[in-house]
Amino acid sequence: MEDIELRGCSLDELIEICQGIGLKRYRATQLFQWVQQKAVRSWNDMRNLGEADLRTLSSHFQFYPLELVREQRSKDGTRKYLFRLHDGETIECVLMDYERTMTRDRHTICLSTQVGCAVGCAFCATGLEGFRRNLSVGEIVGQVLDITHSVRREDPDFQVTNIVFMGMGEPLLNYDQVLKAIQLLNHEQGQKIGMRRMTISTSGVVPRIIQLAKDNPQVGLAISLHAAQDNVRNQLVPMNRRYPLASLMEACEEYIRITRRRVTFEVALTSENARNEEAKAFVRLLKGHLGYVNLIPVNPVAGTGMERPTSEQIKRFAQVLENAGISVFSREERGTDIDAACGQLRRLWESEDNEPIGPI
Ligand code: SF4
Repeated sequence: MEDIELRGCSLDELIEICQGIGLKRYRATQLFQWVQQKAVRSWNDMRNLGEADLRTLSSHFQFYPLELVREQRSKDGTRKYLFRLHDGETIECVLMDYERTMTRDRHTICLSTQVGCAVGCAFCATGLEGFRRNLSVGEIVGQVLDITHSVRREDPDFQVTNIVFMGMGEPLLNYDQVLKAIQLLNHEQGQKIGMRRMTISTSGVVPRIIQLAKDNPQVGLAISLHAAQDNVRNQLVPMNRRYPLASLMEACEEYIRITRRRVTFEVALTSENARNEEAKAFVRLLKGHLGYVNLIPVNPVAGTGMERPTSEQIKRFAQVLENAGISVFSREERGTDIDAACGQLRRLWESEDNEPIGPI
């Protein structure tokens, strides 16, 4: 029983375990709130549990707060965190703050779901490193909890409002853990992040797209599309060799039919693909599908040979799509002065001889 990961437990699981070891049901609720809502990082901070019960609980659970090894802060306020897991592996996540005048401020976290990634997209620093392992539920949720804990020291009212599963790893290849993490992050007695404020970004794992629509139709779906022709996409996003564009678009249609929600199609623009004929290929592929196109100018990643397009190229590309009636938005650029592209900070840190900067 000692290897149960505290941060990965649902309230129902905690109730069952607590009752099984002779503790009252309300202890499970208190424990859940300390961990999932107040985001504490040690048993000693759980002040209302009583010494004897704390001793019993701590002998039945493993509690692994993430260890912060590096934090970078951009001029625009974007913060990128490199965390070390209990087995020494490292992962990245990013916090982006958006101040709004008409609505409440948004605090979005981009989460990792795997250590490394097996997909191997051509433009991605994580893909260059290969796959190491899946993250557990507690490690996925832990990124939100530990960032929340850290920011609340400066701003006690801080609350994450949005989640994008767009960090290291392919979320739909760690499906069960990601879905359970979403339930925990949404829980009324946890972080209470709305289901519709969470988005899974996938390279196109077709069977899981349809399963997601059925299992959790409220969560948003983004497709890392990046190319509109199979021969090009095969090179950029190798998942395409397994699930080519025709099957991917069919799965998106099924997702839209079941959920009645739009899909976001992400297109990373480089100086190479931001051309008129590429834009026309996207029009042919996407016309008639319910979705938006999100244009993302790439941050250059050493070793990929990709270059950022000019703003004139981006504008012309967007115009071709818009003229065909396709909704386009360019992602608000964040963290361009730090190593903001997925996997960059981890690669940099692992190539240096670094020491952790200490607990959060
Ligand atoms: S872009 Fe995403 S799916 Fe592709 S290699 Fe990087 S982490 Fe994996």
